Amino acid sequence: MKKELISIVVPCMNEEDNIFPFYEAVDETMKTMKNVDYEIYFVNDGSKDHTLDKMRELAKKERNIHYLSFSRNFGKEAAMYAGLKAAKGDYVTIMDVDLQDPPRLLIDMYHAIKEEGYDCVAAKSVSRNGYSFLRKLFTGWFYKIIAKISSVEMVAGARDFRLMRRKMVDAILEIQEYNRYSKGLFSFVGFDTKWIEYENQERNAGVTKFNFRKLFAYAIEGIVGFSTTPLLIAAFLGILFCFVSFIAIIVIIAKTLIWGDPVAGWPSTICIMFFLSGIQLFCTGIMGEYMAKTYLETKKRPIYIVKETEEDIL
Ligand code: UDP
Ligand code: MG
Repeated sequence: MKKELISIVVPCMNEEDNIFPFYEAVDETMKTMKNVDYEIYFVNDGSKDHTLDKMRELAKKERNIHYLSFSRNFGKEAAMYAGLKAAKGDYVTIMDVDLQDPPRLLIDMYHAIKEEGYDCVAAKSVSRNGYSFLRKLFTGWFYKIIAKISSVEMVAGARDFRLMRRKMVDAILEIQEYNRYSKGLFSFVGFDTKWIEYENQERNAGVTKFNFRKLFAYAIEGIVGFSTTPLLIAAFLGILFCFVSFIAIIVIIAKTLIWGDPVAGWPSTICIMFFLSGIQLFCTGIMGEYMAKTYLETKKRPIYIVKETEEDIL
C-alpha cells in the first residue's frame, strides 16, 4: 500500500537557531509514524540572519526538505499561503519553527483524522505562558471582542497549527484575498474540525517576531476581514448623536426664549465641539480602514514573491 504523505509548512523569519532543532524534533516524531511519509516546506520570510543558509544546508542533505525564500518580508500570513500552495501532501500542517507547536501532537492529529473522520484537527493553547503580561491581557480582550462580532466562529487560543485534509487545503487556496487572516479563513471554509488543547510552550530560541505594532495590525486585519460591526457602530453613534442634538436644540431654544442670555455657555460649547469632532474622526477612521483594505484588494498585488527555492541550488 502506498504511504500517505504529510506536508509540514513552516514560516520562518530570523530563526537561524531554530531550523535544525525543529527538523530534529519533527523527524524524531515522524519516524514513529510508520505508515506515513513527510516533507517539510520551510518558507524564509525575508530573514536577515543565517536562516536561509540553514535551510539550504538541510535541503541539500535531505530529499524531503524543501524551501521557498521570499524576496523580502511579506509576513507570516503570506508565508503560510506560499507554503500551502507548494505542499503536495494528502494532509498538510502549518507549524511555527520555534517549537511552540509541539510535534508530538501531530500523532494525535493524524489519528483523529484517520480514525474519527475529521477533516481538520487544530491545536488550541489553554494558557499563554511564555508571553508577557500585557500581551496576554490584550490578546484576551481581542478574542473576546472578535468572538462577539465576527461573521465566522473564532476560537480563543486557536493557533495556526493544525493538520488538514487536502480538500480543506484546496478550499483555503481558492481564497486569494490579499489581506489574509488565516484563523478566520480556516473557519470560513468550514469542514469538521476537532480541537485539541495543550499548555503553551516556551519558545526554543530567539525572540517573538510579533511586536505590539504587528499584533495590533494583525488584530485589525482580523476584525476588518471578518466583521462589519464597526461600521454599524459608526452608524449607530451617528443616530444617537442626532437624537441628542435634537433634544439639545429644543432645550437651548426654550432656555433662550425664557431667560435670554445667548452668550453664556462658551466652555460647554467647546467641550461638545471637541467631543463630537473626536467621534466624527473616529467614525471616519473606521470607514477609512475598510476603504483601505478594499483599495489594497483591488490592486491585486501578489501575496508574496519567491526569490529562491531548493531547485536553484540542487
Ligand atoms: N514569522 C514569519 N514572518 C513574520 C513573523 C513571524 O514567518 O513576519 C514566523 C516566525 O518565524 C515563527 C512564526 O511565524 O515561525 C510565529 O512567530 P513567533 O513565534 O514570533 O510568534 P508568537 O509565537 O510570538 O506569536
Ligand atoms: Mg512563537
